[in-house]
Amino acid sequence: MDNSVIVIGGGIGGLTAAALLGSAGYHVQVLEASREWGGCAGKFQRGKALFPVGATLGMGFENGGIHQRIFQYLGIELPSNQLLDRVMDIHLPGVNLTFHRNRETHVKGLIQSFPDIADEIGCYFKDLYSMAKKIRTLVDSLPILPPKTVREWKELIMSLNLSSMTLLPAFQKTMLDLLKKYDLHVHPSFKHFIDGQLIDSMQVESDQCSLLFGCLALDMYHEGAFYLEGGLYRIAECLVDASESVGVKATLGRKVVGITRDERNQEWIVSDHRGKDYRANHIVCNVPVQSLKDLFPPQYAPKFKNYIKGKERASLWGTMTLYMLLKEESLPEGLPLFSQICTSPDGNMTEGDHLFLSLSHPDDRKRAPEGFRTVTVSTHTRLENWDSKEKYDCYKRTLKKKMLDSIELVIPSIRSNLIQFYPGAPKAWERYTGRPGGIVGGFPQTNDHALFNSLSHRTPLENIWVCGDSVFPGAGTIGVSVSGYHVFHSITGKKLPT
Ligand SMILES: Cc1cc2nc3c(=O)[nH]c(=O)nc-3n(C[C@H](O)[C@H](O)[C@H](O)COP(=O)(O)OP(=O)(O)OC[C@H]3O[C@@H](n4cnc5c(N)ncnc54)[C@H](O)[C@@H]3O)c2cc1C
Repeated sequence: MDNSVIVIGGGIGGLTAAALLGSAGYHVQVLEASREWGGCAGKFQRGKALFPVGATLGMGFENGGIHQRIFQYLGIELPSNQLLDRVMDIHLPGVNLTFHRNRETHVKGLIQSFPDIADEIGCYFKDLYSMAKKIRTLVDSLPILPPKTVREWKELIMSLNLSSMTLLPAFQKTMLDLLKKYDLHVHPSFKHFIDGQLIDSMQVESDQCSLLFGCLALDMYHEGAFYLEGGLYRIAECLVDASESVGVKATLGRKVVGITRDERNQEWIVSDHRGKDYRANHIVCNVPVQSLKDLFPPQYAPKFKNYIKGKERASLWGTMTLYMLLKEESLPEGLPLFSQICTSPDGNMTEGDHLFLSLSHPDDRKRAPEGFRTVTVSTHTRLENWDSKEKYDCYKRTLKKKMLDSIELVIPSIRSNLIQFYPGAPKAWERYTGRPGGIVGGFPQTNDHALFNSLSHRTPLENIWVCGDSVFPGAGTIGVSVSGYHVFHSITGKKLPT
């Protein structure tokens, strides 16, 4: 059967690929190791409280956004969502800022907070928004990077126009170069603000962040940031429903432990942890690329080594996440649904000095009963801090305390109002989302790992594909959906309408 596909992993990338391939008439089987769909954008339930595992802030639901385009193509409705005008509040040492969806209001607000650099901020954002606009027209047709086939090169060239040519000098630049152009790199609070946005979206700060990707990231929320009722796991649920309605088999609780080749029948054989085998012509791996070598027999190891060459030394992040249920009355008035809390006077962006805090909407009964709210708070952490049993337990305690101390800056009575409290350290991430060692967020979007230096969804093995946050264009539900679409496009030749 040359139109059979097995998708390994039911994260947003894998489910996007599965739903699209199913809609094109392919025989698709999705195998998900855990008991929940959505991976890092999934959920878990404790009593009446529902917690998002990781991802909370939605993008790509606006007209022309990737989720909207894919859902429209599949003929399904988007999950119920709320467009946010006030995207998030940012608490920096000594100054509080608001990220406004409206570009003009946003820049005005920043100028009010930093009047001494008003002109510089104005010019910086003028450049940034103009570059982001050009990049958006370039990526509208969803070109594949790095191009590996004649068709991919052709599609990339076709997506270019005169204005995208003006981006060429920016290809090797970093966001720091743009800050330097207006002397903003020496303004600690403004730089801290930009770094905080970039670490959450690009996994890297301005000094190393690819300028082109950084511009897109800093412009993204202006296109639309959304709260989804229930949480972003609704994307996964909708994709599973759409898939099943066209005959895709989607199975939870099936961990894939091996993939071998049946040369005689030109098929791949996928084995799950219960010893069951599945056969298909194409395999879509929605797992971090670091997991691939363990799924295949040793003879393929050199090919995978070559595939991820240059990525072995990339510094990857883990995360520590706190999941909490609080009484509504313990929250200060006017606290928005999303906040960044940045406590370090010297601009450190990790290890509890920088937190992303998401609250459930007061009317979201899927997430918490009336009068209660769930809170998810995450911070970036280096996995070296967790690499022995002694270090692990001690660091978990230290970081938990530090995170609670930081949260107290915006929710002063947090400690005395915790109804439920669950810390999620790297091992929990490894266990529940299958991410080796607890790595999250894909490769940092530096010039060494972004754009032409990204990993392709096309592996060196015939009909073995990868989607998810390890491959172009990278992390976030919108990034991994694009990679799921790229797999679909490469297998079927079909395209999303522009
Ligand atoms: C703390 C945190 C906060 C985030 N916040 C946001 C946000 O606000 N907005 C946003 O857009 N993005 C956010 N992200 C990023 C986003 O969640 C991820 O980039 C995206 O969800 C990853 O999707 P994926 O397709 O790569 O698959 P994953 O989420 O990695 O899912 C892969 C799935 O494969 C399964 N699996 C693994 N191995 C096997 C196997 N051997 N057999 C079967 N199944 C297997 C896993 O159980 C998992 O369900 C956040 C990430 C983190 C960690």
